[in-house]
Amino acid sequence: ATVVPSTMDSVPKKLLVAGAWTDASDGRTMPVENPATGEVLCEVADATPEDGARALDASVAAQRDWAATAPRARSEILRRAYDLIIERVDELATIMTLEMGKPLAEARGEVTYAAEFFRWFSEEAVRVDGGFSATPDGKNHVMVLRQPVGPSLLITPWNFPLAMGTRKIGPAVAAGCTMVFKPAQQTPLSALALAAILTEAGLPNGVLNVITTSRAGEVVEPLLRGGNVRKLSFTGSTAVGKILLAQAADGVVRTSMELGGNAPFIVFSDADLDAAVAGAMVAKMRNMGEACTAANRLYVHSSVVEEFGARLAAKMAELRVAPGTEDGAQVGPLIDSAGLSKVEQLVADAVGRGARVLTGGAAPDGPGHFYPPTVLADVDSGSEMLRTEIFGPVAPIITFDDEDEVLRTANDTDWGLVGYVFTRDLARALRVSENLEVGMVGLNTGLVSNPAAPFGGVKQSGLGREGGRVGIEEFLEYKYVATPR
Ligand code: ADP
Repeated sequence: ATVVPSTMDSVPKKLLVAGAWTDASDGRTMPVENPATGEVLCEVADATPEDGARALDASVAAQRDWAATAPRARSEILRRAYDLIIERVDELATIMTLEMGKPLAEARGEVTYAAEFFRWFSEEAVRVDGGFSATPDGKNHVMVLRQPVGPSLLITPWNFPLAMGTRKIGPAVAAGCTMVFKPAQQTPLSALALAAILTEAGLPNGVLNVITTSRAGEVVEPLLRGGNVRKLSFTGSTAVGKILLAQAADGVVRTSMELGGNAPFIVFSDADLDAAVAGAMVAKMRNMGEACTAANRLYVHSSVVEEFGARLAAKMAELRVAPGTEDGAQVGPLIDSAGLSKVEQLVADAVGRGARVLTGGAAPDGPGHFYPPTVLADVDSGSEMLRTEIFGPVAPIITFDDEDEVLRTANDTDWGLVGYVFTRDLARALRVSENLEVGMVGLNTGLVSNPAAPFGGVKQSGLGREGGRVGIEEFLEYKYVATPR
């Protein structure tokens, strides 16, 4: 891997508190590793609970003036930040690939996707409206105002280091909220680079505070319980989401939770198989399968399952597995050794229950947490990988015969983020879309994420939506003023 020193040098390595880049209060730093090599790229400040408290104090102090700024001013800051991100796509993509592993081409795609949230919410900032009406008895006015919910705590995962940040910061800025942003320990550099861009774009001091830390639990819990956080927006695992919901309950903190998924990907007998294979490649292989939207269970009708499996395996086998910074890399390393051993164990379990390996199936020797694109056929319904997020490039195929049966099986999970459906029968497409217990459906497509659409899940996949017209709502309160007519 080619480390680009000037790119790394330009990224701040400190906490951003009240507009100042500062060291951790105990002086500690934490290493940032390159998952393709295991090498330490650099050290960044490792925030203490005290730093967390200072960051929240700064947000609280800045809230009133920030809420009073003109919506147009907030909109223009986001628009400038959008322009700056687009100007620096290559630089930001390089930083992301180095700390997270995804191939440069995918990293560039994520940088653009991330920037689009700022463009979208720059447009939404000036569209917040209210109401003015009469009560049914005609005696009173009802005035409805929208106001920022207040200081917000934003917690993001490592798999989309930039887009998960902009998807929260964009609507918070647009709505007039100040914030404490805690990115994942594995990917602090993208978050710090983003904070530098927002500062350059004119975001006032204290509106965005960034705390990178290896001590997430210790730093976050007192903030949530302390009474000053008005909103928690979290993207991450369901397990951690439940812990944070319990802590938020204590302080009656509003929450938006984007948690795990276990996406079914259903191919009916009448599907366009070219589209289904192409869709599976995207739904499975985007981000090496390290996405909550990743196709986790591929249900394929018995009449097409042989052909679908063979074609998917052939395409998967063509992908080039290499460090993300290498030319032509299509599949980078997994995030860490724990991620890799989880995938290895899930494959061993499925194969032990009779699954056939159509391609892949064993990690290569050598440095980095690499796992090859893998397709398994005849996966037994008792296999562990059908009940947990694989978070790796493994596509388990399960054969089905009947629509009702596949719907029942697809819905037989605690999660409900996204489902993918491939069919050319319009009535079936609508019926299945309506009956899948999910927040999003990819109908003849393997990609649902878009800044203009409401992203989110049902059941244990989360609460609330990000993006779309409703994304800003998560950061707004209603206030109603009654007055006689
Ligand atoms: P993943 O499995 O994708 O790493 P996690 O849910 O562990 O997902 O992490 C998502 C985010 O939650 C990260 O920013 C991580 O640091 C943070 N996190 C993990 N544990 C806690 C905790 N106990 N309290 C607050 N944040 C946490």
